[in-house]
Amino acid sequence: MLKDPFPLHPSIGWLLPALRSLACALLVAGAILLPAPGGAEDRTAIQHPAGTAPSAQMAASLLGVSQPLQVLRIDAGVPGWEVRADGRLIGHIGSTWEIAGSVGYSGRPLDVLVAITPDAKIAGGLLVAHNEPVLTLGISDADIAAYVAGFRGHDLTASGPAGGPGGLPDVISRATVSTGVIRDGILRTARTLAIGRGVISAGGGIDRLTFAPATWQQLLAMSALTETRVTMDEAARALAGAKVPVPPGRGDFLHLWMGLADPPTVGQNLLGQQGFTRAIGHLGSEGAALIVMSSGLQSHRGTGWKTSGVFDRLTVVQDQIRWQPTGDRYQMQKRLALKDAPAMKEISLFSLPPQIDPTRPFTLEVRAARSIADGEVAMTITLPYTLPDAFRLAPPPEPEPLWQSAWKAKQPQIAVVALLLTVLTLILFAQEWITRRPRLWRIGRLTFLVSTFLVLGMGLNGQLSVVQVVAFVHSLLTGFRWETFLIEPVIFILWGFTALGMLFWGRGVYCGWLCPFGALQELTNAVAQRLGVRQIAVPQVLHERLWVIKYTLFMGIMALSFYSMHDALILAEAEPFKTAISLRFMRAWPFLLFVLAILAAGLFVERFYCRYLCPLGAGLAIPAKLKIFDWLKRRPQCGRECRMCETKCTVGAIDAIGRINPNECVLCLRCQVIMNDTAACPVLKRRARAPEGAALQ
Ligand code: SF4
Ligand code: SF4
Repeated sequence: MLKDPFPLHPSIGWLLPALRSLACALLVAGAILLPAPGGAEDRTAIQHPAGTAPSAQMAASLLGVSQPLQVLRIDAGVPGWEVRADGRLIGHIGSTWEIAGSVGYSGRPLDVLVAITPDAKIAGGLLVAHNEPVLTLGISDADIAAYVAGFRGHDLTASGPAGGPGGLPDVISRATVSTGVIRDGILRTARTLAIGRGVISAGGGIDRLTFAPATWQQLLAMSALTETRVTMDEAARALAGAKVPVPPGRGDFLHLWMGLADPPTVGQNLLGQQGFTRAIGHLGSEGAALIVMSSGLQSHRGTGWKTSGVFDRLTVVQDQIRWQPTGDRYQMQKRLALKDAPAMKEISLFSLPPQIDPTRPFTLEVRAARSIADGEVAMTITLPYTLPDAFRLAPPPEPEPLWQSAWKAKQPQIAVVALLLTVLTLILFAQEWITRRPRLWRIGRLTFLVSTFLVLGMGLNGQLSVVQVVAFVHSLLTGFRWETFLIEPVIFILWGFTALGMLFWGRGVYCGWLCPFGALQELTNAVAQRLGVRQIAVPQVLHERLWVIKYTLFMGIMALSFYSMHDALILAEAEPFKTAISLRFMRAWPFLLFVLAILAAGLFVERFYCRYLCPLGAGLAIPAKLKIFDWLKRRPQCGRECRMCETKCTVGAIDAIGRINPNECVLCLRCQVIMNDTAACPVLKRRARAPEGAALQ
């Protein structure tokens, strides 16, 4: 069995195995206790927060009305609530969790009630349930209310990108993920609800706006009108035995055309602008307008409707529905406006009833009957119709997923991060070459740390946090979604690089080079040393015992998050990152005092916070031994003949016998510079002094 090359100090040697076991136990317990990832229905059934049904007061506030309201639950189709005032429909309400399955950064449901009006506008939103870290501690209720209110009035039928000037509110920069999830949830829920309630078309509705001039022949070619023809010969055969026989011949018994007149390209061309406006106005806004035209011996209207009120010769058939036009839905037309149209004997306009969906195929049946000796003989002429795609509306635009727009909008920031990571990769791959040039290493490292602090931290808010680790673990257990983590490109790239870097080099890739607060500590300590501030050498035994604090903090935050996310986030305030980096020191004095105390301690003990307190550093340290390569060199003499590296190590990661602890090392390369420095390393000095040809160690 292989011996651990770097056992911990006996006093805390039990710690890491215990922590690893605890982590595994937590994950297993979480996997058992929490519901398995599944579809929205599963989540709804198991985790949907109670109490999100809107009360009448909530509905009034969402819809901006003051009269008494009735709120009715609708479970069929898209679930939600219908809101009525005095029996009149005034809006619909849906839950983002129930409809869009919106899950926050914490991996827990994020529920916003969204109200829409019958004219397809968002009336309002109300955040009713969440477990979001930043919304709990970073952003006030007023900020959230103002953000959600920013969606009021958004037109769900509007095309073009959602957002930008005059559009939707931008996400709140300090809460990009959470407010992004709210934004996506509101838009998707409102759109789904509007389609489900028939407020907007899912696509394929009749285009009642577009007009293009067209001739009769062009309308036929576009299938705007369908046509059928029955000759006298055919009718004579079908109606054989009639008391008044149909005279045989090749002429038209019935030449029939039919189509929907609503698309202006059809109706306006057929009837002329005034005739079209008059006809549509007469028929009213309810139902689509069916135009039926015919020539030939047979009348498609007949005369019976004048007494019965029903056009008994005509039947519109769709699925199981058979509808005969009635007089109150009819308007006669005398002539067509198209010069190349054939002469018509009859032109009729009918307003289709709501039960006939004009966007779906239907058939017109025309019945022709004649009396015979013992009754009547009849024939049915059928004419099928399907609304051509050219006259259908495009579906309302699906809002672009926020993560996609975030990646497009943040291209400059992504480029800067990519540049920093490329430079760091080159440094790490060329570490042997660089560490033989102490001046280059010193200048290069200071420059990189300044960039990390100013550009990555203060400029791009690229500070990782233990809160993200908690959110990640919870999302793994409750239904991981890439989209949630992709909303913040800079953080996503940093975590991706850190994870990869941990495989090759260990946690130091992040802690040593990319952590803005780590960089701030090292830079302030460098200034302090430059000013002659004496450094405190923490005795090794105490030093190693103090490590317990950060590991305990990390596991405490993680364990507490399964009990109460809110309490876990309060404990996560042990991280000074939000105060120092995210909020740029613009915070209440107790937080400022805490950060200043940490930085002050760091003036005397380099990276004091990293060494003993940082829960994120602890979280990154736990899997540190998984790294594949060991890039840091040691000499057999390290710790025996010389302890310079141990005393100079940035975080005290080298023990008394010269071994580097990968859990603690931040990969600053200082020890590598020392061991390559002929003016510092005793082994190199001895080699330099040794006579040529002498055996060297
Ligand atoms: S230990 Fe914490 S503060 Fe220090 S560099 Fe790592 S993450 Fe940053
Ligand atoms: S001095 Fe060496 S051991 Fe210490 S943190 Fe830097 S690279 Fe790691």
